[in-house]
Amino acid sequence: MKQYECLVPGCEWHTEAKDEAEIVRRAAEHLREVHDEAVVRPEMVERIKQRIHQPAAAQ
Ligand SMILES: [Zn+2]
Repeated sequence: MKQYECLVPGCEWHTEAKDEAEIVRRAAEHLREVHDEAVVRPEMVERIKQRIHQPAAAQ
């Protein structure tokens, strides 16, 4: 399982999923719906990927 917290400062949205692609998909959807980010650019996807991590308890 992997975890991700929203990269927008002050936003407490987070998600977890089994694979990175699913997290990126959910994060992009969240950016569109909540932060009015109509187009999620490739560099934004890179920033999302860099923030994906394993939950501490699962290591
Ligand atoms: Zn957010």
